[in-house]
Amino acid sequence: MRICVISYHSSPLVPVGAGKSGGMSIVIRSLYERLGRHADVDIFTRGNERVVSVHPGVRVLHVGENNPGRFVEAIVKNHRRHGYDLMHTHYWSSGIVGLLASRVLKIPWVHTLHTVEVLKTIERDKARIEIEEEIMRSCDLVISPTSQEALAIQTLYPDVKTATIPHGVDTRRFAPSHNGHSNILFVGRIDPIKGIHLLIDAIRLTKRDIALTVVGGPSKGDHNLRSIEKHAAGLDVDFVGQVRHDRLADYYSRAAMLVVPSYYESFGLVGLEAMASARPVIGFSHTGLKETVGDDAGVLVKMGARNLARAIKNLAVDHNLRQRLGNRGRKKALAFDWSLVAQKYGRLYERVVEK
Ligand code: UDP
Repeated sequence: MRICVISYHSSPLVPVGAGKSGGMSIVIRSLYERLGRHADVDIFTRGNERVVSVHPGVRVLHVGENNPGRFVEAIVKNHRRHGYDLMHTHYWSSGIVGLLASRVLKIPWVHTLHTVEVLKTIERDKARIEIEEEIMRSCDLVISPTSQEALAIQTLYPDVKTATIPHGVDTRRFAPSHNGHSNILFVGRIDPIKGIHLLIDAIRLTKRDIALTVVGGPSKGDHNLRSIEKHAAGLDVDFVGQVRHDRLADYYSRAAMLVVPSYYESFGLVGLEAMASARPVIGFSHTGLKETVGDDAGVLVKMGARNLARAIKNLAVDHNLRQRLGNRGRKKALAFDWSLVAQKYGRLYERVVEK
């Protein structure tokens, strides 16, 4: 099978955890590295490095144009040469490319939203909601990482076809270790939607001397980071900045728990990385964590700093509970190993192509 993947928003080769590069890049890298063993994968992204072979069977093709139309021309040119069987677009900006490309390619098209604008609880963009609807109605299949998201999409747009495949985790890189710590870890881009202000409020409310490590770089300008640093004045908070993904496992193993205070989280890849590292996860129950973490690999609460504070306090003093939730998380995470998740994608792609 020859698969054409579109990643217009960001290059999967750029280091993640700051700017525009986050979980989607990890998903694209991890998934196609595995699928490349059984299929030929061409990933189209923006940039000037031309063609880079990243793994056997996987090439990243850089198109030096900041223009979806010109981008489509490059895809069509390659399709004529290689004959793709399937197109998979990631994120709404790639979906716009998909809308244009599908008119010419005439091959099955699957789309992953990564963020569903209409389901976000803050900062919704009306124009983007309409474009995402058009993308969902035009493609052959929408792949969602949780069944609750797939259900929400079906409820809003009954004609849209959805399938659910969770994101994965590298369970060898993120491995369990003894949890004798009491500090909190936050991992993610420094962006208002990630709710770090709420986490700072929660730590103050605990009235305890709890240390927090914040891993990740600014996402939409430095002002968010400066505002959070100011908000955290007087607390024991270490802003370590962006950390290379292959160095991140140490941060999980040196933490007692991961807190994901996001207002919106489609899946919560960091939650799964914490689970694989046998660390309990605290977050909000209306997010994708409900399905990933559930009620036995962490503590999920209703949105609000007070609820977060209570969960943090309870876990900080209860070593046995942290251990129990962490061990359960590790067991659950094994079912999300990327090798298993990639097999699910392989089977789904085959079904879509055979139809
Ligand atoms: N990440 C990283 N280095 C950092 C911060 C984050 O490698 O400094 C990774 C993190 O391990 C996770 C991804 O970036 O795999 C973030 O994914 P998530 O789904 O949590 O958030 P998104 O950025 O997609 O909103």
